[in-house]
Amino acid sequence: MRRYIIAGNWKMYKTITESIELANSLKRELIDCASLDIVLCPNYVALSEVQEVVYGTNIEVGAQNVFWQEEGAFTGEVSAAMIKDVGCKYVIIGHSERRQYFNETNETVNKRITHALKHELIPIVCVGENLKQRESEKTFEVVEDHIKGALGGFAKEELSSLIIAYEPVWAIGTGKTATPDQAQQVHKFIRDLLAKLFDEEFASSVRIQYGGSVKPENANDLMTQNDIDGALVGGASLKVDSFVKIVKITESIIK
Ligand code: PEP
Repeated sequence: MRRYIIAGNWKMYKTITESIELANSLKRELIDCASLDIVLCPNYVALSEVQEVVYGTNIEVGAQNVFWQEEGAFTGEVSAAMIKDVGCKYVIIGHSERRQYFNETNETVNKRITHALKHELIPIVCVGENLKQRESEKTFEVVEDHIKGALGGFAKEELSSLIIAYEPVWAIGTGKTATPDQAQQVHKFIRDLLAKLFDEEFASSVRIQYGGSVKPENANDLMTQNDIDGALVGGASLKVDSFVKIVKITESIIK
């Protein structure tokens, strides 16, 4: 059985002080939620402090990106060893905002995954179509291209920790959510594709999160879909109340 995973992507929000405050409040509220994985992904400069707050609890920390070189003259970049050293267990790779604003491609996503895995970070790999692609019925084509590009060249044994986040770009930060049926359809497509690319056993073990305006009001309907194994939450992860509710609603499905 796949374990649910709820991750909060704090994006470029919260100073260090604000991040500590948010992490402390979440720790207080979520300390007993041990039946699922909870991950907080603050900005790079707040990673160390947030890690200190949640250290030794059921809450883990992840970074929002990683570079693919070990070290060197790469001004502004951060390596997997650095992320690992600060105490991160996870790293988000290929978020649509990185594809949109920072020239992220399938090739760079693939390199980041390689580097993250080498340092035993768990990659949360984001895939998903934009509005134009959905409207022109290219959703499956785009998602297939993202998955094949991201995972090309890997053996299934190397990808045992892999997490995929299906995030339709048109639903990110827009308040529009994919309906549970729409989301389930793409999650099933991803799982079937993984079975074709690797095998059934591997496909059924990979956790696939949904991301795109997840909030307490839609969490139950999304999280109860067969192939949805958690959520990557943006906006609603910045507020204690909404993130806690999403985690607790998901937990209530398990019990
Ligand atoms: C995200 O940033 O990955 C995301 C899904 O954002 P939001 O929940 O705000 O749509």
